[in-house]
Amino acid sequence: MRAVAVVPGVPNSLHVRDDVRDPEAGAGDALVRVLETGVCATDVDIAEGLFGQGPAGSTFLILGHENLGVVERSPAGADLEPGDLVVSTVRRPCPERCVPCVSDQNDMCLTGHYVERGIQGLHGFMAERYAESLRYLVKLSPLIRPFGVLLEPMSVVEKGIEQAFRAQERLAWNPRRAAVLGAGPIGMLAAATLRLRGLEVHVAALEPAGSFKDQHLAKAGIRYHCAASTPIESLPSQIGPIDLVFEATGATAVVFPAIRILARNGVCILSSVTSGESPVPIDLATWNREMVLGNRLILGTVNAARRHFEMGARDLELAEQRLPGWMAQLVTRHVPFTDAPAALHRRPEDIKIVLSFS
Ligand code: BGC
Repeated sequence: MRAVAVVPGVPNSLHVRDDVRDPEAGAGDALVRVLETGVCATDVDIAEGLFGQGPAGSTFLILGHENLGVVERSPAGADLEPGDLVVSTVRRPCPERCVPCVSDQNDMCLTGHYVERGIQGLHGFMAERYAESLRYLVKLSPLIRPFGVLLEPMSVVEKGIEQAFRAQERLAWNPRRAAVLGAGPIGMLAAATLRLRGLEVHVAALEPAGSFKDQHLAKAGIRYHCAASTPIESLPSQIGPIDLVFEATGATAVVFPAIRILARNGVCILSSVTSGESPVPIDLATWNREMVLGNRLILGTVNAARRHFEMGARDLELAEQRLPGWMAQLVTRHVPFTDAPAALHRRPEDIKIVLSFS
C-alpha cells in the first residue's frame, strides 16, 4: 500500500512510498481504511528531522497521528462494525507498565518510555490502511464526518480543560471568564470547548482584527483580540478578571505573560511544546509572589487518554448541533496525500490542513 513517510532525523525527507506492507489485523484488531489525516506542528518538526523515531528495525516512520478512518473489518461480536467511522488514540503504554499506564492513563506515563503512533516508535496513520486494537478505537457519529479528523487535537484540548477543572476542585470555584492565547487549531478548539462549557471566552492572537478567525470566533460568541493592538498583559484591565488561561501559541515569550494575567485562584493550562529559542529573562520574585498570594495554579498537559477522545466526540457533536458548519470551517485545506509535502507549508489563512486518502 501507499503511505507518507519520513526518514527520522533527516530534514526534508518526507516522501510518498508505495512499498509498504499491508497491515495485518490480529485477533482483537480492526482493519481501518484511512479517510483523512491532519497535519500539525509536531508533523512539521518530525519532517524537519527535529525528533521522531521509526519502529524498531524500520528505516522509515509512517507519519501522522491525527486521523479519521472507516472500519473495513472487525472481529466477530465487536462493538465496531464495517462502515463505522473511527479515530484511533495515539499513545501506547510503556513496557514497564507504570501505574498510570495500567490505569488507562498512558497520557500520564511516568517512565516516558511510551510509544506514539506516527511520532515515536510506531508507524502512524498517513497510510491507506492500518490495523489497531479495538481498545484504542473511538467510534464517531456520521454527523461529524466532515471534521472528525479534528478529534485528536480536540482530545488534547479536552484533557487540558478536564485536568484544570479537576485540579480546581481544590476550592469553591465558579469560573466566568477564560482567555485562550493562540488561534491555531488547538486555540480555536479550546475556545469553542470553553464556550460550550458556558464561559465568556476571549482569544488573543497575532492575526489582525477582522480576519477570518476573528469573524469565525464572533459567530460562536467568542471575542477576538489582536495581540499587536492589545498586548496580552493588558487583557485583564480590558476585559476583567481571567479565571482560566489556555496557552496554545507555541511561543516561549508568551508563557510568562500567560501566567501573569491570571486572576486570583485562577488556573493556567500550558499546552505548547516550545523549542530552543533564546532564553527569556523573568522576574522570579514578582512571579513567585503573585503565584503564592493569589493561590494561582499552572498546569502542563500533553496527549490524551481514551476518555478525552470520547469527551471530544461528544463536544464536536454538540458544537455541530448548536452551530452547524462552524467546526467544518476549521478545516481550511484538503490536500491529496500524494502531494503531502505541499501540506507542510501553512498559508496565513490556514487553520487545519488535512491530507485526503480517498
Ligand atoms: C500530539 C500528542 C503527542 C504530542 C507529543 C502532539 O502533537 O497531539 O498526542 O503526545 O504531540 O509527541
